[in-house]
Amino acid sequence: MKLKGDQTTARAMNRRLILNLLRREGPRSRADIATVIGLSPAAVTFVVADLLEEGIVTEGKAVPGPAGRRPIPVEINYEHSLALGFKLMVDSVECVATDLATNPVAAMRVGLEGHDPHYVADLLAGTVPALVKLAGRPKAKLAGIGISMPGVINHEQTACVRSHRFRWDNVPLASLVAARVHVPVWLEDDTNAYAIAQQLFGLGRQHRNMAVLAVGVGISCALVIDGKLYRGANGAAGKFGHTLFEEGGRLCECGKRGCLMAYHSELSMLRRWRETTGREDLGLPELRTALASGDATALTLVGDSGRGIGTALANLVNITDPEVIVAGGEAVSLGDAFLTPLREALTARTFRTAPPLLPDWEDNSWARGAAALVTQKIFDFESSGGVTDIATLGVRGSTSAA
Ligand SMILES: [Zn+2]
Repeated sequence: MKLKGDQTTARAMNRRLILNLLRREGPRSRADIATVIGLSPAAVTFVVADLLEEGIVTEGKAVPGPAGRRPIPVEINYEHSLALGFKLMVDSVECVATDLATNPVAAMRVGLEGHDPHYVADLLAGTVPALVKLAGRPKAKLAGIGISMPGVINHEQTACVRSHRFRWDNVPLASLVAARVHVPVWLEDDTNAYAIAQQLFGLGRQHRNMAVLAVGVGISCALVIDGKLYRGANGAAGKFGHTLFEEGGRLCECGKRGCLMAYHSELSMLRRWRETTGREDLGLPELRTALASGDATALTLVGDSGRGIGTALANLVNITDPEVIVAGGEAVSLGDAFLTPLREALTARTFRTAPPLLPDWEDNSWARGAAALVTQKIFDFESSGGVTDIATLGVRGSTSAA
């Protein structure tokens, strides 16, 4: 029946509006919610009753209001569920359990000894019970698992279409893990997942248009446009590191020559530093130390990379016009030696005033990004349910489907 369908859709949209208002603004009374969103008080009461019953929101203490009224604030119960996040790197997995505000409550790291998809799925599934136990919240439900990795991910967020670093083509990793743990699992490109976390509860919380710049093993971008992550036609948007830096130049992991990341990713900076100094033992900590002590070679090399990225980033800014740029990844730890030349090059090349570049210094933002794939669904009207008791989880994680 049409009427019923309309009501269901309207209720789902109201639910999304209310949850997102509470996420952005914190506790609000029902009357406030109705005023801010422009809904009738009855509609708000109706949806809030649903959310209270599900336990996703709770009522706070009544506060004295105008004319002797004491409105009761409604707030999100961020401890309602746990979200698990796995950030896949080439040789290890960063694992985190978070509440629904992506605050970590448990974290661990496990080694990755190979890239066979079934081995990886077994490893992740096997880690779930330990991570849940470490979180120590027996009353919380497990809302799901988010996995992030470098690569092109399909729109359904189930399969890795292509990952150069893992040498994967069409690997349905989310499905492989879901078959082992029986909770919803989502897969996403690691920079996209990171951007979602920044948008929900991080530096991009108040912005509808933002860019994320990630400089680590590779270089990539994620774009949030009008409040939505832009994934492109094939899930391949944001492969900023593969834009051209030098025609016919250094070989990149993608097989082409002269890509930006073949010169200026953190990995490439270290490679060039080792080439220049002839010392194979140099790593990121040594580079930080060299910068701190004013080493001219290190300063020049890192400054060149900052400028190279800043110039390329200005092109991106001129096309997409973001309000802010959040910068993350290992290279951020190089500090002003990297960020100042980057900002200068950005400012020199942008059509309008360059947007602020906000470095993210948090340690575990990337694993939180993976967990945010789960929490995002809580605030999205398109999906609901998908919550399973932890008790039903058992130790199914180690079954092999190879
Ligand atoms: Zn490339």
